[in-house]
Amino acid sequence: MSKYWSRFVQDLVPYVPGEQPRLQDQIKLNTNENPYGPSPRVLAAIRQAASDDLRLYPEPGADTLKAAIGTYYGVPVDQIFVGNGSDEVLAHVFNGLLRHAAPVLFPDITYSFHPVYCQLYGIDFRAVPLRDEFGIGWEDGPGGKGGLWLAKPNAPTGCLFSLAAIERLLERNREAVVVIDEAYIDFGGASAIPLVARHPQLLVVQTLSKSRALAGLRIGFAIGDRDLIAGLERVKDSFNSYPLGRLAILGGAAAFADEAYFQRTCAD
Ligand SMILES: *Cc1c(COP(=O)(O)O)cnc(C)c1O
Repeated sequence: MSKYWSRFVQDLVPYVPGEQPRLQDQIKLNTNENPYGPSPRVLAAIRQAASDDLRLYPEPGADTLKAAIGTYYGVPVDQIFVGNGSDEVLAHVFNGLLRHAAPVLFPDITYSFHPVYCQLYGIDFRAVPLRDEFGIGWEDGPGGKGGLWLAKPNAPTGCLFSLAAIERLLERNREAVVVIDEAYIDFGGASAIPLVARHPQLLVVQTLSKSRALAGLRIGFAIGDRDLIAGLERVKDSFNSYPLGRLAILGGAAAFADEAYFQRTCAD
């Protein structure tokens, strides 16, 4: 505590990141880093980007990275939002798309950053108990007006939720944004990204930290309807115009260009 802190900061209870031990001879699993390194093409792109150009600001819209993601998933760039890790993307999502009078819903057993974002932005929330087999059951329940957040597959339960279940959930929740966090989807399961074309309230969030072994570069992204992305861009440009540096933009773009390496390391 410090007398110089605002009252708001004195009351904050921050998220505690997974421990990063300094011991060299342990295999560390707690923060789910990839045991393989990033693609050699990513390292080459970063080396090339480490030049005199670093005196220049990066692209504010990270257009090169958005173009690579857009090509990979077959979506236009104005349906893609990128941020400094999906944690930053999620922070802007909570602030810009889930900050309503009605509470936001998320499963009681899941990624634990959400209550922290809700506290930071003054958002009311309900942690909904998971059903048998760690299923969600929301697809049959009433829709929330404050939006909802779900990880597919859920972490740490691993429950994958079928696309049919996600579509039923979307049909019952048209009044507010439905966020699907797909941090682990590349390790198995169908992404909900193709559903974005039919559901303007759906936002799918992914990260390059896990399957693309780039936790140290900090890149996350979201794909959704143009209106959702435009809202996120407004929040971002009210906070930090350049959340991704030149190394991250070019390194991240290179990660999507090395499909062979990606498939090999995900399958192992
Ligand atoms: C690791 C993880 C994140 C954070 O990813 P970053 O892009 O590294 O910020 C978000 N959501 C879930 C479910 C995760 O497991």
